[in-house]
Amino acid sequence: METSSVAAFAQAQQVIPGGVNSPARAYGAVGGGPRFIDRGVGSHLYDIDGREYIDYVCSWGPLILGHAHPRVVSALQEACGKGTSFGAPTQVETELAELIVASVPSIDMVRMVNSGTEATMSAVRLARGFTGRDKVLKFEGCWHGHGDSFLIRAGSSALTLGAPDSPGIPQGVADLTLTVAYNDIEAVRKAAKENSAEIAAIIVEPVAGNMGTVLPHDGFLAGLRQVADEEGIVLIFDEVITGFRVGLGGAQERFGITPDLTCLGKIVGGGLPAAAYGGRRDIMENVSPLGMKVSQAGTLSGNPLAMTAGLEQLKMLSEPGVYDRLERISASLADGMAENLRKLGLDYAINRVGGMLCMFFTDGAVGDFAAVGTVDLERFNRYFWAMLDRGVYLAPSQYECMFPSLAHTDLDIDETLRAHFEALKEVH
Ligand SMILES: *Cc1c(COP(=O)(O)O)cnc(C)c1O
Repeated sequence: METSSVAAFAQAQQVIPGGVNSPARAYGAVGGGPRFIDRGVGSHLYDIDGREYIDYVCSWGPLILGHAHPRVVSALQEACGKGTSFGAPTQVETELAELIVASVPSIDMVRMVNSGTEATMSAVRLARGFTGRDKVLKFEGCWHGHGDSFLIRAGSSALTLGAPDSPGIPQGVADLTLTVAYNDIEAVRKAAKENSAEIAAIIVEPVAGNMGTVLPHDGFLAGLRQVADEEGIVLIFDEVITGFRVGLGGAQERFGITPDLTCLGKIVGGGLPAAAYGGRRDIMENVSPLGMKVSQAGTLSGNPLAMTAGLEQLKMLSEPGVYDRLERISASLADGMAENLRKLGLDYAINRVGGMLCMFFTDGAVGDFAAVGTVDLERFNRYFWAMLDRGVYLAPSQYECMFPSLAHTDLDIDETLRAHFEALKEVH
């Protein structure tokens, strides 16, 4: 039935490692092969075999307006005609920067980069330069892209030595990364005390979105702010997912905690490759060519097409009522899923905030990576295929969120909930 996707995948595997340009796309977690995509329209996705899906991946977050929004497409068409890249400043970069500064509470100045990975790497380098310290504290289950400093797991002695999480990462780098449990503010205090005057940055997803959806407990983000202030540590919110998704001002606005630096990605590029890091003026004024000249540069940074797509999307997100609408769409999905679970006598956890949510195949509250570790992966995998068979396109992993967009209609939600009910019945 999926002959063309099967053939396309086989062909791709000859010349691209694993046949994909980002590993999660290979469906390794769920088995089987990916669908090759032909096009997307609004909330719907069409594969090269002509099958149609309601899309809850939305390019892993960026497409909060859905696919090929007419305003984004027409802005891009106009920008394309003027040339695709200049390696010289353009006004659209300033326009997008102004809108980011106006929207995100902690950001006085912002530097554009090409990917979330670049944003987090650059923010950490800046924090290290600014503080003159080397260590970084991060949290189990958070993802900050594939920079060396982040591909580190807690070692046997979590508060002293990290362990590389991939071949190719020197132990010397791992030694500088501390990893503690998400939502465990006592572990943060302890690590900060034991590494006093050595930690440059605490980096956190203010709502974790790379172990499903995990919300910060009351006081967790405020606790991080307090420890950072007491110890002279730069607090970095990685809002690559939450930025413009849990509200126009991101998680920092929603939870009322202001970090020193913020990383943005995904939505900020409107579906094109763009990301950004920004924050306090006195820190950002040390990015090259200013102040301490902390190095960071990019041939295609601030690319006019990416800036145009990001700007057009952000303008639409700035219109009144947009986030109330997203909240309604997202809540009707989560509430309907909860209702299905009740009808089926199941007790799975559903975590949701704004336009991000996750149903975990485990009972009880999910507040950290250890709890996420109790999920029934085998059952999730069968559920994933049962949903795909019914035309609902989910991320091929239990550790990802559902990302409803503003293009999702009541009809989409109804169809999704019907598929959800039947798929759950099928796998139990
Ligand atoms: C996706 C993601 C990144 C990395 O962004 P890329 O553009 O894939 O490099 C960083 N942090 C978080 C929280 C993300 O979800």
